[in-house]
Amino acid sequence: MNFPQSPLTRFITDNEHSWQLEQYTAHGGYAGFKKAIDMSSDELLDMLKKSNLRGRGGAGFPTGLKWSFVPRGEGAPAEKYLIVNADEMEPGAFKDRWLLEQTPHQIIEGLLIGGLTLGATQGYIFLRGDYYLAEQRLKSALDECREHHLLGKGILGKNFQFDIHIHSSAGRYICGEETALINAMEGKRANPRSKPPFPQVAGLWGKPTVVNNVETFCNLPHIIHFGCDWFKSLGKGQDAGTKIFGVSGRVNKPGLWELPMGTSIREIIEQHAGGMCEGYRLKGLLPGGGSTDFLLEEHLDAKMDYDEIGKLGSRMGTGTLIILDDRYCPVSMVLNLVRFFAQESCGWCTPCRDGLPWAVALLEKIETGSGELADLDQLEALCQFAGPGNTFCALAPGAVEPLQSALKYFRKDFESHIHQQCCPYHLTEVSHKG
Ligand code: NAD
Repeated sequence: MNFPQSPLTRFITDNEHSWQLEQYTAHGGYAGFKKAIDMSSDELLDMLKKSNLRGRGGAGFPTGLKWSFVPRGEGAPAEKYLIVNADEMEPGAFKDRWLLEQTPHQIIEGLLIGGLTLGATQGYIFLRGDYYLAEQRLKSALDECREHHLLGKGILGKNFQFDIHIHSSAGRYICGEETALINAMEGKRANPRSKPPFPQVAGLWGKPTVVNNVETFCNLPHIIHFGCDWFKSLGKGQDAGTKIFGVSGRVNKPGLWELPMGTSIREIIEQHAGGMCEGYRLKGLLPGGGSTDFLLEEHLDAKMDYDEIGKLGSRMGTGTLIILDDRYCPVSMVLNLVRFFAQESCGWCTPCRDGLPWAVALLEKIETGSGELADLDQLEALCQFAGPGNTFCALAPGAVEPLQSALKYFRKDFESHIHQQCCPYHLTEVSHKG
């Protein structure tokens, strides 16, 4: 067997329509599902657990473990649901969009395998409302599957029934949180639910539900087809498989690449993103989208791996790096992020509803030159107030991650705004232009 190094993106070629069934199958698509249809639910779940696949949405929760909480077999509820979380709204993240637009069949195949594993007959794709091209290609991929007996009743002539529906998101960041997403699908206001119970036990319409990210589902066909050992061997560090990494900011070639899990930050930035643009130096980076803590140049040799980035006090999150360069104001960058999170808060709990707008007001004060040193202490206190354990969901704790780490690493920048009563970067920018 020819074992691929880039399983998720091997379908994407320059001059072929990778999103169409013909191209997808020509490159080995649906082989994993064809193998899975002759396997038992226990065998499939066992493979998923042994593969060490971890959720690619940001939290990195072990997928096999999560799926093992779903009741199966005798006495289990007849209705269960699988949901693909395609509501990609993390600042700086654009990896799921690529997969959705380029390989919709890979997501469908992952869902079909999920249906076999958990004994579910319905799958949903909760899609970001602005992803028009993705929606168009997903719809046409679903039509192709129905025509070719890959969806519906008696799939591939076997006693297996499954169908998939697209749910277009009304457009809130909080809908990416799985229980808020479920509430939105039920037509309710998208507030997160208190956990437990976790959706695996009581989710959509109170039935067992698994919610996983687009990239997580994309991995399933390959794990089943090529095996757990191959999947684990792909990673360079602790974690198994590959990851779609991305870089945005002042680099020569911003973009996305499928690379081994555990690839160093340095390799991603210098080799794949072509290094910093001329005249710009790397000052810091957010390793996994906007809701992660800053890392510095001294961390460049760290492996992009859930636990390793965690040990540095940040999170790998979505694996899409945002670069802060030496000519961009860190206060302004953090203000922009916290403003976004404050706007996207569902308003359910006080630290998020009131704490984030308060942080925005203080950051605006500092950025516009009227800040005081006491504001920095207040910002530190707000980071604690809105931090882990004090809120219903991860929105506010995620929102304060870039802020708390900016206060730690770029404190001098905050102080110089206060001492100079203006944004020093704005002055630099003006003098560059002038
Ligand atoms: P979480 O850690 O609470 O949960 C992650 C998953 O693990 C969930 O599916 C949850 O059901 C499961 N889980 C966790 N503990 C469990 C337990 N004890 N028993 C059973 N299941 C359990 O994180 P979250 O709030 O779902 O997600 C936060 C992450 O999402 C952040 O890392 C953030 O970076 C990321 N995020 C990503 C996007 C995006 O666009 N991709 C958007 C917003 C946030």
